Amino acid sequence: MRILLVEDDEMIGDSLRLALRRQGYAADWVRDGRAADAVLASERFDAVLLDLGLPQRSGIEVLRALRGRGDATPVIVLTARDTLADKVAGLDAGADDYLVKPFELDELLARLRALGRRAAGRVETAIQVGDLRLDPATREVSRAGRAIALSAREFAVLQALVERPGAVLSRAQLEDRLYGWGEELESNAISVYVHQLRRKLGDDLIHTQRGVGYYVGPAKSG
Ligand code: CA
Repeated sequence: MRILLVEDDEMIGDSLRLALRRQGYAADWVRDGRAADAVLASERFDAVLLDLGLPQRSGIEVLRALRGRGDATPVIVLTARDTLADKVAGLDAGADDYLVKPFELDELLARLRALGRRAAGRVETAIQVGDLRLDPATREVSRAGRAIALSAREFAVLQALVERPGAVLSRAQLEDRLYGWGEELESNAISVYVHQLRRKLGDDLIHTQRGVGYYVGPAKSG
C-alpha cells in the first residue's frame, strides 16, 4: 500500500513515516497543504493520513479539493483538536475516518487495514486465492494450511497481487506500492521478490504476463 502522510510536525511525521515503512508500506511525506494538493493531483496513493492544522492550506481545504476533483482516495484525518466540531467537519469534507492525536500506532495500522478492506470490497480480514491465505492483520501467509514466513517486502508484493486476482500489475506499479520517494531501489528488485515468493510458495501461484507484469489466479493463455 502506498500512503501519503501530510503532517507539519517534524517529530510526528518522521516517526510515522519510519513506522509505516517498517510495516512494509510505501510512505511519502509532505509538510504543508499546498504541497499535499500538488502531490495528490498528480500521483496515486492507496490512502492519505491528513493532519488538519497545516501551513499554506488547512487539511480540510486539501480534503475538499481532493473530493472536488472526484478523487475517492481513502483519507484518515489526524487531528490534535479533540472537538466534536472538528471531527464532524472532517467527515463532512470527505474523510473516511479520523484519529485524535496522540494515538497508538497499532490503532492507526488497524484503521489502514480496515480502509484497505473497504476499498477492495472485502468483509473478511484474510484474503483467500485458491489454497493461498494471506491475512493483512496478522501478516500470516499459508498455502494449503502450511504457514510460510515472508519478509515485509515479499508480503507487500504478494498482498498487492492477491488483492486483485487476475489483474496484471507491472513492475512499475509494484514498485509504486513498495517504495516511497528517495528510497533506494535496485532496478531488478521486484523480479527478485517475485523469485523469492515463487521459491517459498511454489511456482504455480504468481504468473508472468510477458512484457506486462505479474498476476495471481488462474493462468491466462499466451
Ligand atoms: Ca499540524
